[in-house]
Amino acid sequence: MATIGFIGVGNMGGPMAMNLVKAGHCVIAYDLSDALLDIVAEAGAEKASVASDVVVGADVIVSMLPSGKIMENLYIHETALLDIIDQNTLVIDCSTVAPENSRNLAVAAEAKGIVAIDAPVSGGVGGAVAGTLTFIVGGSDTAFENAKPVLSDMGKNVFHAGGNGAGQAAKICNNMLLAIQMIGTAEALQLGVDNGLDPKVLSEIMLQSSGKNWSLELYNPYPGVMDGVPASNEYKGGFQVNLMNKDLGLAMEVALHSKSATPMGNLAKSLYGMHGRKGSGALDFSSIQNMFKEE
Ligand code: NAD
Repeated sequence: MATIGFIGVGNMGGPMAMNLVKAGHCVIAYDLSDALLDIVAEAGAEKASVASDVVVGADVIVSMLPSGKIMENLYIHETALLDIIDQNTLVIDCSTVAPENSRNLAVAAEAKGIVAIDAPVSGGVGGAVAGTLTFIVGGSDTAFENAKPVLSDMGKNVFHAGGNGAGQAAKICNNMLLAIQMIGTAEALQLGVDNGLDPKVLSEIMLQSSGKNWSLELYNPYPGVMDGVPASNEYKGGFQVNLMNKDLGLAMEVALHSKSATPMGNLAKSLYGMHGRKGSGALDFSSIQNMFKEE
């Protein structure tokens, strides 16, 4: 079992750290919030009062932070943890950031003889709690193999997307497609309802037809069609509109760099941006259904 330094024990990082404790690892955690540290300490992790205390002597460092700027400041610039991390330590950043942030981390780490990889996740808070997250890794073959056992203790699927930054790029592509698909699904369901169709019946028909997709099959956005999804719980829980907006922003940044045409992604970003600004930021992203309803 490994000694794991964990930085950022928020909605996602907290349960992920607890799953590492459950798997028998020695976890030392750090977060700006003492209250969140108390929660993971109760589950068996050790609390650190400064970031440097979790990285010295760790076999693996896992971070789960809100943004690329915070991640880079922590490892490279302000806190400069790379200056004190041991060369045998594997750094796994699971935050969702731009591929460029992940490449910056890998390059700065390599200059100090340290290996760092990106391993953003899909699966949300529910997946983090259940230990069923999907990890999408960017890094070398060797680093991927070394990271796999630890990631498997927090998730069900561990994919190797390519070199550093590829994990972020793959995650961004997936979430852009998810946003477009969810909007299309909500639009089609509302068109049906406005023309006298029962959304449940329409969903059944489309599920057996060419309109079938993940949102329709497992995450129906129309209230009352499916049990156990946010749409049937006033859009509470799930994946917040704010986080979808963050990921769509990253997708547009990446598209700008690669000069890729993303007209549907652009439109999805505008629609989710408007939806968030109208006070729905904390709701699940399937609440985009409300934008199509008559006021
Ligand atoms: P969160 O805000 O709940 O947690 C982030 C934690 O990082 C907070 O507890 C914060 O105090 C801590 N933090 C911030 N700066 C820090 C610093 N300098 N040192 C130490 N700790 C610091 O966010 P979250 O929902 O857990 O998301 C974390 C990451 O996971 C984000 O990049 C997000 O995009 C991604 N993600 C979230 C979800 C989701 O459903 N919540 C799903 C997939 C991916």
